[in-house]
Amino acid sequence: MAKVDIKYTKLFINNEWVDSVSKKTFPTINPHDESVITQVAEGDKADVDLAVNAAVKAFHRYSEWRTMDASQRGRLLNKLADLMERDSKYLGQLETLDCGKPVKTATGEALWSAQVVRYFAGKADKIHGNTIPADGPVISMTMKEPVGVCGQIIPWNYPIPMFVWKIAPALAAGCTIIVKPAEQTPLTALAMAALVKEAGFPPGVVNVVPGYGPTAGAALTSHPKVDKVAFTGSTEVGRIIMTAASQVNLKRVTLELGGKSPLVIFNDADIDMAAEIAHDAAFANGGQCCVAATRTYVQSEIYDKFVAKAAEVAKKRAVGNPFDDVHQGPQIDDEMFGKVMNYIKIGKSEGARCVAGGDRKGKSGYYIEPTVFADVKDNMKIAREEIFGPVQSILKFETFEEVLDRANDSNYGLGAGVVTNDINLAMNFVKHARAGSVWVNMYDYVTPQTPFGGFRDSGIGRELGEDGIQQYLETKTVTISLPKAQSK
Ligand code: NAP
Ligand code: MG
Repeated sequence: MAKVDIKYTKLFINNEWVDSVSKKTFPTINPHDESVITQVAEGDKADVDLAVNAAVKAFHRYSEWRTMDASQRGRLLNKLADLMERDSKYLGQLETLDCGKPVKTATGEALWSAQVVRYFAGKADKIHGNTIPADGPVISMTMKEPVGVCGQIIPWNYPIPMFVWKIAPALAAGCTIIVKPAEQTPLTALAMAALVKEAGFPPGVVNVVPGYGPTAGAALTSHPKVDKVAFTGSTEVGRIIMTAASQVNLKRVTLELGGKSPLVIFNDADIDMAAEIAHDAAFANGGQCCVAATRTYVQSEIYDKFVAKAAEVAKKRAVGNPFDDVHQGPQIDDEMFGKVMNYIKIGKSEGARCVAGGDRKGKSGYYIEPTVFADVKDNMKIAREEIFGPVQSILKFETFEEVLDRANDSNYGLGAGVVTNDINLAMNFVKHARAGSVWVNMYDYVTPQTPFGGFRDSGIGRELGEDGIQQYLETKTVTISLPKAQSK
C-alpha cells in the first residue's frame, strides 16, 4: 500500500484551517481494510454559521471578489486547474485511500476534473445578457448576476469530480460557496481547498466544512443567508433538502439524484461490443454511479449469446486492492456493502438466474464480486430499485414499442442507452427515452461541455455545459425610459 501523506484534516473557513467549534472529530475509513485513516474536524451548525458569514462577507458588493474582473476570475480558475494537474498523482492516491477506487481511475478523475475547471474558466468572461425589443419608448436588457451564497453538498462516489462540478460554475458566475463533502470521503475536498487557496481565491469565496448530513448538511440547507443549494446524492435526501430549502427562505435548488437507467440492445448489435458497453455501463466505479445502466434489455434473438458473453466479461473483471492494477476496488463502506449484498440475496430469492458473481470477494474489506442476473423480470426489486453496487440485471424483449415502454417505466430518468446499427431504431429511441442523457452505441460519455442531469425523480437542473453555469445566475431585467430627445 502506498504511503499517502495526509496534510489537511481541519475545516477550511475564510482561507484558514480551523478546528470545529465543538472540537469534535470523526474518523474516515479506508474501505480496503476497514481501518481508520485519520480523524477529521466535524463541522456542525456553529461551524456552518461561521462559514456562511465568511461567504456572505466575500459576496459583499465592494469585496475583492465582487469587484474583480470576470477575466481575472477565469485566470484564477485556470490556475486552480494547473495546480490540480500538478498534484493529480497525489489527489489520485488520496482518493484511492479514502474512497477505494482504483488509483489509475482516481488519478484520471483528478485530471478530467481539471478540464472541467478550465471549461468554466473560459466561461467566466462570456456571461452575456440580451437586449430586448420591448414595447414602448424604452431600452430593455438583461444582466446576468451571480445567485449569491451557495451551499453545495456532495456524495462519496466521485468526490473530486463532484467537488468541481459544483464549485467551478459557481466561481465562474461569481458566487461564494460552502461545500459539505460526504462523511466517507472528506480528504480530497480538503486537499482541493488547499489548492483553491494557493490559486489565489480571496478568503471566504470557497469554504469546506466536513461533517454529517443531518447536522452540517441540514444547517446549510436551512440557513437563512444561503441563496442556493446544489446537491448530488440519493433521491430520498434530495426530497429532504428541497423541503428544508423552502422553509426559512426560498433557495434556488439543483438536485442530481439517483437512477435505474436502461441500456437497450437490439438484434443487429455486435454481441461482443454490446456486452463490453453494457458491462462498463453497469460496473463502472463498482456500480456506485448514479447513471449506471443496471437494466440491460436484450432482444430475444441474441439474448442467450449475450447473457453468456456478459457473464464471461464480468468474471474477468479484476477486483482487489485499489492500489494494484485492478478494475474495481471495494464498495465505499459497511452500510453500502450490506445493502448491495442484501439486493443480491433478494435477486436470488426473486428467481433471477445468477450467471456471474453473487458473493462477497475475500474475507476483509468491502469487496463484492461483479454479479450478473439473467431472466430478470420488470417487477423484481433488482429491476426497480437503485442498488448502487456491482450488479447487472439482464431482461429479454421482443419489439421496439415494448422495450421503450418498459425502459421508460421508472420514476427515475437520469440516463438511457441504445446499441444498434439501425438509425431509425436509434433515433426513435433517442426521441422517446425519458432521460436527461441518452447515448447511442456508447454509454456514460460525459464531457465538460455536455449538460448532465435528470428527468423526473433523478433531479432538477443540469450541471456542466452552458446549462451548468446558468444554474448559478440570476437574470436581472433593466428597462430604461427613452422619451424623445428634445433638441436644444
Ligand atoms: P446521501 O445520504 O444522499 O448523501 C449525499 C450527501 O448528502 C452527503 O454529503 C450526506 O452527508 C448529505 N446528507 C445526508 N442527509 C442530509 C440532510 N438531511 N441534509 C443535508 N445533507 C444531507 O447518500 P448516501 O447515504 O451516501 O448513499 C445512499 C444512496 O444514495 C446510495 O445507495 C445511492 O442510491 C444514492 N447515491 C447517489 C449518488 C449520485 O451520484 N446520485 C451518490 C451517492 C449516493 P453524509 O456524509 O452524512 O452522508
Ligand atoms: Mg473513507
